[in-house]
Amino acid sequence: MLQASSYWKEGDALVVDLLPDQSEADLLFEHHSSAKELASILDQKLPRRFAVEWCASLGGSKPANRYSRKDLEEIAYGLHHWTIRPSGTEGFGKAEVTMGGVDTDDLSSKTMEARTVPGLYFVGECVDVTGWLGGYNFQWAWSSGWVAGQYV
Ligand SMILES: Cc1cc2nc3c(=O)[nH]c(=O)nc-3n(C[C@H](O)[C@H](O)[C@H](O)COP(=O)(O)OP(=O)(O)OC[C@H]3O[C@@H](n4cnc5c(N)ncnc54)[C@H](O)[C@@H]3O)c2cc1C
Repeated sequence: MLQASSYWKEGDALVVDLLPDQSEADLLFEHHSSAKELASILDQKLPRRFAVEWCASLGGSKPANRYSRKDLEEIAYGLHHWTIRPSGTEGFGKAEVTMGGVDTDDLSSKTMEARTVPGLYFVGECVDVTGWLGGYNFQWAWSSGWVAGQYV
């Protein structure tokens, strides 16, 4: 989710596949004649509290044998296409990387010096370079800093 948030624009919907490794039919249809509650079937694959909340959003959990085949198809579809529209991000205070910054076109890629202002260098986070989470932003900060350090 944190990684996905780098690509999210305000107002966008997110479509999440809650069971990417599970065929649509498998989980629900193997239980279609059982009296087991939908939430208990889903909590084999999803966290229990999430399964209960998810069923509540459908109007509550019922025994599997009280759902029609069409209901189960719709539920299976919903599990693979859970659509949410976030109300916002947690903002700068929680951000791990910022997008935007000094345009790389305005910097020398060899020295990191500003093309139009000799002696002015930009590196790291303040440049418009955004990496995936997992160390790429540190790498960029260190590498661009090292490069600039060879020339200042
Ligand atoms: C919570 C969090 C988790 C992160 N996790 C990861 C991660 O797992 N992997 C990854 O790759 N990246 C991660 N990042 C991003 C990474 O930390 C930054 O991309 C990187 O530190 C940027 O380095 P920088 O030197 O450009 O800027 P900064 O590390 O922000 O350094 C700028 C320095 O300038 C100082 N400064 C500011 N104003 C002035 C001033 N006027 N005078 C003097 N000094 C000043 C600041 O105090 C600061 O020390 C994370 C960031 C956050 C916030």
